[in-house]
Amino acid sequence: MSSNTSCQDVVILTKHGKEQVLADVLEAELGWQLRATDAFDTDTLGTFSGDVERQGSAEQTATQKALLACELEGVEIGLGSEGSFGAGPFGQLIPWQVELVACHNAREGWTVIGEAQGPSCHLHRECPRLEDALHFWTQAPQGQGLMVYAPSQKAQTLRKGIVDKPALIEAYLAAAEVETPVMVEYDLRAHLCPARRSVIADAARDLLEKLNNHCPACKAPGFAYKTPLPGLECEQCTCPTQQPKAHLAQCQRCGYEAQQSVPMAGASPASCQICNP
Ligand SMILES: [Zn+2]
Ligand SMILES: [Zn+2]
Repeated sequence: MSSNTSCQDVVILTKHGKEQVLADVLEAELGWQLRATDAFDTDTLGTFSGDVERQGSAEQTATQKALLACELEGVEIGLGSEGSFGAGPFGQLIPWQVELVACHNAREGWTVIGEAQGPSCHLHRECPRLEDALHFWTQAPQGQGLMVYAPSQKAQTLRKGIVDKPALIEAYLAAAEVETPVMVEYDLRAHLCPARRSVIADAARDLLEKLNNHCPACKAPGFAYKTPLPGLECEQCTCPTQQPKAHLAQCQRCGYEAQQSVPMAGASPASCQICNP
């Protein structure tokens, strides 16, 4: 790898190989040379396997990681990313996944957060027999890592980062000595979860778009028309609907606000509470 001295040195605080995903999207576009630091153990801020609970919100955690990257490495720009799995817009019906990538500029004093979300890629299965665990493994996407544990003694029996058959067999048999069925589930850490990496790449693209939009008042980046303002009038009865009539942009540094109207003249009666109750 050649180092380009004209590129800006940007650091991401990560243990789990997210830097390549982010570098692919951001480096060429922004003139960055992205490198990872593990100078701080991000697992102390929360883990997916649940052995460490996250304290703040996902936004706070991503921002905190970006700030730490700046502080620990003494660079102007730091990145931090954070994923969340849980209930989404469809409640418990469709498990949901949100990925955030925060970019902090320590010299200019702003933070911009890229976001992407969608149905969760997470799967788990109770496996009464070893064959069930092996079947689950063969059904998983190429490169997807697994975790194995005895449900009643998760902390004591948890094995993470299982990527091959011998390791799966060994972990299954060890957990099965405690109890069956054994729980087998996806290891969601980014380096072991290709589906998650693709959502992180989407979040990086969202970040890129926001970084390229500057506040008209103070020139800070991140001025993107993203917050929907409901109330588009029904084209049949002219009552306001839940469809957005405009999107709001707000500068998180100086507070300047502006709205951008949607291109549609009116909402479809299908989305109207009056015409289509
Ligand atoms: Zn501003
Ligand atoms: Zn209507």
